[in-house]
Amino acid sequence: MPSKFSRRTWFGLAGATAAAAALTACDSKTPTGDTAATPSLTPRGPITDPDTALEALKQGNQRFVTAEQMHPGEHPDARVDVAGGQKPFAVLVSCSDSRVPPELLVDQGFGDLFVVRVAGNVIGPSELGSVEYAVDHLHTPLIVTVGHTRCGAVEAAVDSVESGEAPHGAIAEIVKLITPAVHEAQKDPGEDLLDTAVRLNAVQSRDTLLKSTVVADAVAAGKLRVIAAYYSLDNDGKVELL
Ligand SMILES: [Zn+2]
Repeated sequence: MPSKFSRRTWFGLAGATAAAAALTACDSKTPTGDTAATPSLTPRGPITDPDTALEALKQGNQRFVTAEQMHPGEHPDARVDVAGGQKPFAVLVSCSDSRVPPELLVDQGFGDLFVVRVAGNVIGPSELGSVEYAVDHLHTPLIVTVGHTRCGAVEAAVDSVESGEAPHGAIAEIVKLITPAVHEAQKDPGEDLLDTAVRLNAVQSRDTLLKSTVVADAVAAGKLRVIAAYYSLDNDGKVELL
C-alpha cells in the first residue's frame, strides 16, 4: 500500500445508522418493499457547508454499497424543481469511464452534483474553468476528485512514460497532465505502479485545483473543502478518501 495517503472509507457506523433511518422513512411510503427502485420525494434543503456536503456523499455512497438507494432527485418532479436554477452541493471531478458513474456511486439526482467528467479526471483549462464556475457562481461547498482502479487514461500515461512514446492525437494532451503523477509513483510504486499512479493522479488534480485563486480563497474563507478520493472497481462500491 502506498504510504503517501491514509485509507479512510467515506462512512462509518454513524453513516450506516443514518442511512438505515433514511431507508426506514422510505420504506414507510413503499409497502411493496421495493426500495431500490422507488424514487424519494422527500424535500431536501440546500446544503451550503463542506461538512454537511461530505456527510451527504458518505451516506449516499453507503446506500449504494448496501443496495439501499433512495434515488433522491430522480423523480420527474425533481427535474422541474431545479429547472429554474441549480444549487449543487458537491463538484465531482471524475473519469469518463463507463464503470464510474458519479450520481450512481453516491446516490444523488437532479441538481445535486456538478460533475466534471473527463478521461483520467485531469484538470486542464476547461476543467478548471468548470470548477471555478461552480465555486464562484454556484457557491458549491465541496469538491472531490475521484480516481479509479485500472484507469485507462492513467494506464496510457504509464505506458507512455515507460516506452518514451506519446500516444496519438489529443489523448497525448490528457497523458501530459497525468505524467507528473506517474513520475511520482515511480519513486514509490508500492505493489502496483498503475494503482499508485491512479491515486496520486487524483491527489494531483486536487492540488492543481487548490492552486486556483478562486478555489484557494473559498477554502481560506471556510466555505469550501477540496478532497481526493479513490473508487475501486473490485470492492463493494466503497469510495475511499485519500
Ligand atoms: Zn479512468
